[in-house]
Amino acid sequence: MIDPTAECGHPHRMTETPPASKISPSIDFDAPGKRWGALVLAHSRDDSAWGSIRIPIGVIKNGTGPTALLIAGNHGDEYEGQIALRRLMNETPVEDVSGTIIVLPGMNFPAVRTGTRCSPIDGGNMNRAFPGRADGTITQIIAHYVTHHLVSRADLVLDLHSGGKTLDFVPFAATHRLPDTALADRARAAAQAFGAPVGLVMLELDDTGMLDGVVERAGKLFVTTELAGAGSSTASSNRIAWRGVRNVLRHVGILAGEVEPGEAPTRMMDMPDASCFVTSEHAGIHEPLVDLGEEVLAGQPVARIHFLEEPGREPVVYHSERDGLLIGRHIPGLVKTGDFLISVAVDL
Ligand code: CA
Repeated sequence: MIDPTAECGHPHRMTETPPASKISPSIDFDAPGKRWGALVLAHSRDDSAWGSIRIPIGVIKNGTGPTALLIAGNHGDEYEGQIALRRLMNETPVEDVSGTIIVLPGMNFPAVRTGTRCSPIDGGNMNRAFPGRADGTITQIIAHYVTHHLVSRADLVLDLHSGGKTLDFVPFAATHRLPDTALADRARAAAQAFGAPVGLVMLELDDTGMLDGVVERAGKLFVTTELAGAGSSTASSNRIAWRGVRNVLRHVGILAGEVEPGEAPTRMMDMPDASCFVTSEHAGIHEPLVDLGEEVLAGQPVARIHFLEEPGREPVVYHSERDGLLIGRHIPGLVKTGDFLISVAVDL
């Protein structure tokens, strides 16, 4: 068990006045007990002139201890996290908690309601909108509130992603290479505690607009995930998410009980550079030649692209640039120029 407040606690944070937001929470985050409520944001529109958006939020607070901010629905078409966080709120006895758990199971709620990656209101991709703007679009206003009113309260943030409609993954919990190596080590230990089949250390080439960097630059513990995908979830991926969320909370001492081992030990892996990714330069029908979870060798064919209008033309073959585990793939049967095809991870 570690004490995440030991190195990144902000004892004076509650005395700082956060910047004004158009969002009002319907519940008190500081009162003991468990409650669901909403972040309320006015949204005047054609079908509701004086309407508002109500983003579900839950709090469990008991005794003293760190504050965890648990987020899903950053992208609206990713489901394991949305399910696990609803379950966590509804099934966790208050007395099992030491500290505070804030649950935001559908952060980009307009996108969650339409089952789309981005917001149907402003097209906003939430994970490119951070730290947000108080006077911006709906997506930017939500990001701004999360940055200044929720991340500011938290000692650790868990942001649960999956592949959505266009990607699928071998389930993994991930952290980043950080200049603060002590923080990076703590994040790696938390990702390993999650207990997914893979724990990944990623080099984020450009984290502009991402929640990840906002949390990490504040010196706080951050873990993210990719838990399968293809626009839905499976019994297996939901089991991994449910165990993982509770494991991270147990690891930091907020939730009672021991970390529960995964079905196999977590394989710690790395995606060191852009050669881990294969991108299509052609449009057509996507024929995968390797499935998720299979080992590939450098130079091995991984996919063929068939030309729709030219059935007699030889398909283009794409190859892996590296030896490793095929950890991510493109999902739709058709590919476009510039689409991601596969990604490969290597052992740490
Ligand atoms: Ca995502």
